[in-house]
Amino acid sequence: MTIPDLIAQGPTLSFEFSAPRDADGETRLARTLERLAAIKPSFMSVTYGAGGSTRGPTAEVVERIQRLGVNAMPHLTCVAHTREEIAALVERYRVDGVENLLALHGDIPADGPDHATNAFPWAIDLVAFVRERTHFAIGVAAHPEGHPRAESRAADLDHHAEKLRAADFAITQFFFDLAHYERFIAEMAKRGVTTPVIPGIMPPTNAEGIARMSAANGTDFPAALRARLEACGDDLDARREVATDAATRLGEGLLAAGAPGIQLYTLNFSEPALTIVRNLVEANALAGFSVPARS
Ligand code: FAD
Repeated sequence: MTIPDLIAQGPTLSFEFSAPRDADGETRLARTLERLAAIKPSFMSVTYGAGGSTRGPTAEVVERIQRLGVNAMPHLTCVAHTREEIAALVERYRVDGVENLLALHGDIPADGPDHATNAFPWAIDLVAFVRERTHFAIGVAAHPEGHPRAESRAADLDHHAEKLRAADFAITQFFFDLAHYERFIAEMAKRGVTTPVIPGIMPPTNAEGIARMSAANGTDFPAALRARLEACGDDLDARREVATDAATRLGEGLLAAGAPGIQLYTLNFSEPALTIVRNLVEANALAGFSVPARS
């Protein structure tokens, strides 16, 4: 089913995973996928070469998700690809029964080929290429706080508006303050854009990791949240409680504000995602998903 069709039925719930880098990662991912597939989410997405990681296993993870009976959405990036390589991957996904794809520029690998060698300079060019070849619903990335490489906030919003008009839906970079999402949606509306924008929620479990990712993405990591996490020290259970509490509150606010769904960044762990979904279902913020009882 396409994501716009799913959205038409009510707020969606989805999870993002990344392809594993080694055998341990593969075992953990397999377990996580099974546990989260049991919730019957609207879809699960799989990153592609994010942060310069390997690309190979993305298609295999997508196939594994499809076998679990869940809609899988591969991410696809412009970075360092020929048109023929992209066409071959898109064809593989079509044969696998994929119906949704997230078209991205991609993180530029530190030691990778130059940006100028891209066959597709911007994500919007990839959207057009995939659109010509498939009936996939095509999603794009949105950066509510602005993209770090943007010339200016105004130019960034105009580029976003153009890209969202060409796409069927968008998924956002993570952020910690509902106001960033609301401002972004208002800016898109001013430009006549009504493409559904699914907010991405990151449970902030690790202060250092979140600070690093936030600095790279241009995301504000509120000092109070950081202090709460740092006060937990090495106590992982305490940090998870702070993280799932922050993510639950943000999810409640977003769904109450009319977001078309939520996408949880799992980092391939099941526990925080399960807790957040359970919290949202118990708070009547999210309907239509059943979560196993607390163990
Ligand atoms: P684009 O839309 O191409 O552009 C990014 C910015 O460039 C725009 O916001 C705008 O400011 C500027 N711009 C756009 N068009 C123009 C133009 N014509 N002229 C001048 N400036 C322009 N990375 C990965 O490598 N793998 C992944 O799987 C992955 N998954 C992601 C999932 C989500 C939900 C998000 C939000 C990001 C993901 N990323 C991933 C990271 C993403 O690839 C990077 O943030 C990348 O730097 C920007 O990608 P984009 O698709 O938004 O780029």
